[in-house]
Amino acid sequence: MKGYTGKILRINLSDGRVSKEEISEEMRKKFLGGRGFAAKILWEEVSGVDPLSEGNKVVFSTGPLTGLPLPSSGKMVIASKSPLTGGYGDGNIGSMAAVHLRRAGYDVLIVEGRSEAPCYIAIHDERVEILDARDIWGKMTFEAQDDLEAKHGRNVGVLVIGPAGENMVRFATVMSQRGRAGGRPGMGAVMGSKNLKAVVIKGTGKTPAFDEKRVQEMGKEGYGEIKGKDNYDFWIRQGTMQVFEWCNENSCLPTYNFREGAFRFSKQLDGYALEKLKVDRKGCPLCNMQCGMVIKDADKRNAELDYENVGMLGPNIAMDDLSKVGVLNRMADAYGLDTISLGSCLGFLMEASERELLDTRIEWGDLNACKKVIEDIAKKRGLGEIIFEGVRKASERVGGDSRDWAMHVKGLEISAYDCHACPGMALSYGTSPIGAHHKDAWVISWEISMDRFSYSKEKVEKVIELQRLRGGLFESMTTCRLPWIEVNFGLHWYPKYLEAARGEGITQEEISVLGDRIYSLIRSFWIRESGSWNREMDYPPSRWFEEPLPQGDLKGYKLDRARYGEMLSQYYEIRGWDENGIPKEQTLEGLGLGNIVRVPRKNG
Ligand code: SF4
Repeated sequence: MKGYTGKILRINLSDGRVSKEEISEEMRKKFLGGRGFAAKILWEEVSGVDPLSEGNKVVFSTGPLTGLPLPSSGKMVIASKSPLTGGYGDGNIGSMAAVHLRRAGYDVLIVEGRSEAPCYIAIHDERVEILDARDIWGKMTFEAQDDLEAKHGRNVGVLVIGPAGENMVRFATVMSQRGRAGGRPGMGAVMGSKNLKAVVIKGTGKTPAFDEKRVQEMGKEGYGEIKGKDNYDFWIRQGTMQVFEWCNENSCLPTYNFREGAFRFSKQLDGYALEKLKVDRKGCPLCNMQCGMVIKDADKRNAELDYENVGMLGPNIAMDDLSKVGVLNRMADAYGLDTISLGSCLGFLMEASERELLDTRIEWGDLNACKKVIEDIAKKRGLGEIIFEGVRKASERVGGDSRDWAMHVKGLEISAYDCHACPGMALSYGTSPIGAHHKDAWVISWEISMDRFSYSKEKVEKVIELQRLRGGLFESMTTCRLPWIEVNFGLHWYPKYLEAARGEGITQEEISVLGDRIYSLIRSFWIRESGSWNREMDYPPSRWFEEPLPQGDLKGYKLDRARYGEMLSQYYEIRGWDENGIPKEQTLEGLGLGNIVRVPRKNG
């Protein structure tokens, strides 16, 4: 099959070995690329190891659309066994490194082992070097990127970690291009555990395509269609921040550690407030939707914002000034911390302080206290020692009833949507393959526009439909879903793009099977690696079941545990998993995983 370089580059940091391997035709057909490849590789190569040990691996994986002149195709998936959750972890990142990896002749890079001293990897086509990184170890992501570009030229792709990753903070991310981030479940910490500061990639070859001319033509048409969409201009003004006020009005804004659903100072943080402070826009390569909104922050420096980080570092910690949110976001990017988990961790500490479970006071909305805690997290000292492993572990440390309001699923902090009155979105968080994240099934807008409060089978089916498309197809092609989601760019384009890129399109049926195969494979990884799998791991935190919304139009609403359980059982049934959420043998067989996966049947 064309449209792939067909090569995996494998680098072992323990002994310096570099090898190149073929990607089989079967793997391309069954797993497509990106997340599909990463899940298959991790299943086969990472078993029973501590995520921060030499035995874990980081997989940088592109798809057949990556780097082609097609809308929003400058992405790759970074995956590993997660040190935050103990299960499968991944995240996509927009980066020139993705584009260059394919130009250099590789679809996938696997990094394994551990270097004795700080190092970075430099890939220039065939030449692969492991170089000394002692002079950039300890530097913030922005400065380290500057130094690497000064050395290797500006026309390279750089993936880099900050001090948080070096110190193995469990929610450390990988950064690129001074604002793009990926790998929420601690992919930066895994790089840090390998003493790997960065990967620098330059490729001078051609990105493979089955029909180059057709790709060019359809890409041009696609970019044009996106620009002509009715809401394109508004998107360019506000990006994902267009959803902020809608969340507030619908009581799904994360507020006071997901307690309240709406924030009385929302107007000071919403998309229009953003427009007043905006000085620029940034984004991923090959994208004409550039959603990184750059503002002047309270320190008069540039900070890049989107809805998720404003939600979590704004109302969730009662920060009522967007320029202050910008400061926290810039610091998180500089240290290489995930902004969603950071907002949840700060909210958790503030609530713990309010409930007198901490020796140190940290008040809601206190900018200086937050700045200090961010530094402490990155350096694992002070309050950072309590929270650097995320809210799940922190709740074990602070005690009391904090387990009930530690806002995570499977150890990954919940992203920026309150679900007191959104059972479908709660199910999406509960069943996301990396822990609570919205990227696989952002069902909330559909849910609120339909019968919001129901626990219907239709909702369960919708969650699965979205997971197949977003979590299966988009994460594996590997391209950004936002043109489709946000400006209604036609879904019908993508099978045609795949056909032009690799000589084979994809049918509706094949999309479903692909998504289901990847989901069952990742689920099997969780069960094998977590040691004590149980159905409760697919539930959101108690707060949404036990504590009703205290204010607003939906005052008094909360989730119903029994009815959520019924939805979950329906979900398992459709997926072909047993009553504990474990894939059945016949399901694995039917998905073509029979000769790949053996799932432990025992569960705790
Ligand atoms: S829409 Fe945003 S996240 Fe998606 S590719 Fe463009 S800049 Fe990146």
